[in-house]
Amino acid sequence: MDRRSFLKKAGLGMAAASAAALDAPAVLASGKIKWRMVTSWPPGMPILQTAAENFAKWVGEMSGGRLTIQVFAGGELVPPLGVFDAVSRGMVQCGHSASYYWAGKAKAFQWFTSVPFGLNAQGMNAWLYKGNGLKLWEEVAAEFNIVPRPAGNTGVQMGGWFNREIKSLSDFKGLKMRIPGLGGKVLSRAGGTVVLLPAGEIYTSLERGVLDATEWVGPAHDLRMGFQKVAKYYYGPGWHEPGSVLELSINKKAYDALPSDLKAVVDAAAARANVEMLSEFEAENGKAMQQVLAMKSVQVRTFPKEVLQGLKKLAEETVAAEAESDSVAMKVNRDFQEFKKRAGEWAQFSERPYYELIA
Ligand code: CA
Repeated sequence: MDRRSFLKKAGLGMAAASAAALDAPAVLASGKIKWRMVTSWPPGMPILQTAAENFAKWVGEMSGGRLTIQVFAGGELVPPLGVFDAVSRGMVQCGHSASYYWAGKAKAFQWFTSVPFGLNAQGMNAWLYKGNGLKLWEEVAAEFNIVPRPAGNTGVQMGGWFNREIKSLSDFKGLKMRIPGLGGKVLSRAGGTVVLLPAGEIYTSLERGVLDATEWVGPAHDLRMGFQKVAKYYYGPGWHEPGSVLELSINKKAYDALPSDLKAVVDAAAARANVEMLSEFEAENGKAMQQVLAMKSVQVRTFPKEVLQGLKKLAEETVAAEAESDSVAMKVNRDFQEFKKRAGEWAQFSERPYYELIA
């Protein structure tokens, strides 16, 4: 930003002045660049907040200190779900969150995190990096002055904690469940009631019967929430989030202003965060699941096949309806479904028979 336009913006009053000052990444006299990053995660949240902090650390290391990033957890600088606006407006230079939180900005954003019965982590990476996924994501995000990068994946999540046994699709009728996004829309189609609550209220709501069920992430995070103390059944798989991608969002002006070597550093650190997070989830969930299986008070189940088939049909209707209501989402969904079909056909002969053998 040149001096004249800076002064012009700075003349707009205090709020505008501070926004303008942040709009241009702080380039110090030494040529060093300082960025700020906001996240949607609570301070210290393992695997998620730590991924954002590691990303910042790696950028500092790889750039030899030429680009440093100060990380703020959810609520420290902006509210957890204020990440998108803060990055879009240039209040900060980057953020770590999940794209499906921004469905209200553009419906298409949902496809870049996860859709019910969509691609797993391996499939999402293949679609994003080697299919049209990231290109489409960049297109959608550019409208909001944002450059997106995959920067983490949860792997297959769990289906959730239930205080009611699920034997058939009709058991979802009247079920009060905390399940956000497209998964929630599928639950509604199955006759359930979606209850959206802040993280801090889920435990007591389950305990008091305000909720019959809740999904969260996977055993590693779920145990920390204490759901094993207030729910009887733990169902898998997380059909609604089979491989949720976490997002690094970068303010487009800040990204474009970087020299090409620092752009490469940011991209490489994001890719490393993507690999590390999935690896950590797989390792930690494996350990945590052992603990859950040893608990006498919890029954670990998989949803019956007919239930999953029923949910899959409802999910297809939900996703199609969501895509039809929006031309950009329609374009993204068409590409996603084509990719998924090929991935699924390949998996019939590779992953599927293999997992049937080892699981
Ligand atoms: Ca979840």
